[in-house]
Amino acid sequence: MTPATHGQRTAIVTGAARGIGAAVAGRLACEGLAIGVIDLDEADCAGTVEMIIAGGGSAMAVAADVAEEAAVIDAVARITTELGPPTVPVNNAGIGPRADLVELTTQQWDTVLGVNLRGPFFLTRAVVPHMLEAGWGRIVNVSSISAVGDAARVDYGSAKAGLIGFTKSLALQLGRHGITANAIAPGFVVSDMTRASARRLGHEFAEYQRVAAQSIPVGRVGQPEDIAHTASYLVSPEAGFVSGQVVYVAGGPVD
Ligand code: NAD
Repeated sequence: MTPATHGQRTAIVTGAARGIGAAVAGRLACEGLAIGVIDLDEADCAGTVEMIIAGGGSAMAVAADVAEEAAVIDAVARITTELGPPTVPVNNAGIGPRADLVELTTQQWDTVLGVNLRGPFFLTRAVVPHMLEAGWGRIVNVSSISAVGDAARVDYGSAKAGLIGFTKSLALQLGRHGITANAIAPGFVVSDMTRASARRLGHEFAEYQRVAAQSIPVGRVGQPEDIAHTASYLVSPEAGFVSGQVVYVAGGPVD
């Protein structure tokens, strides 16, 4: 049996200038999806867009802060005009600064919830009409193992847990329209985010990874491609019976 293909479908990947988002964007482009790359700075997206175009794919970059409603609506409109109606939103943009609860300001709480939870709401709401029209869609939300609790980041853990509730609710509401919604919850993945954590804690990054790997059952830290492989499966035409799930990509079980 020949596997189904994506044809002319369009995905939007947020936070795709680097790290996990860039890997997901590249992987979905290899599978034939046109990619709208959203990140804070358009120039920062050049590497991702050039990689996709060099590989024979289609991509465009749009600068938008995912926590800003109007910016997200405008970005989706531009991508729809240039690449066609998006039916695969990948809510990947995220921030996770550390702060103890008593030092956590209301502003930081709102900022972290804004990027990690309001952003996915804005993008998904803007894309759903296109999915309904197509009678098909694949929503992928990048949560985190912090969703089950994060001693260093109560704001981030709360946002990532909220994203899982959002995902399951979408799966329930949209399933009958041929739309699936799933979350990926990565463990430690090598990226600027974990690089910044190492720096903040005063550790050399290689040593930080080595120590982290010791408590991961498969004995290594994750790479952005580990998440891209999982996203690729969840977005695939064959994954239509998988919805409302959280896939922990963490080198071991999480509870
Ligand atoms: P990263 O810092 O390398 O990349 C995040 C990207 O998001 C950056 O390009 C950044 O500019 C962009 N971004 C940040 N705020 C934005 C905003 N308001 N609007 C648009 N774009 C914005 O981080 P990463 O490790 O690639 O993380 C990607 C996702 O994976 C995040 O949601 C993160 O919470 C999640 N995650 C990462 C890890 C890890 O270990 N790296 C683990 C679990 C979950």
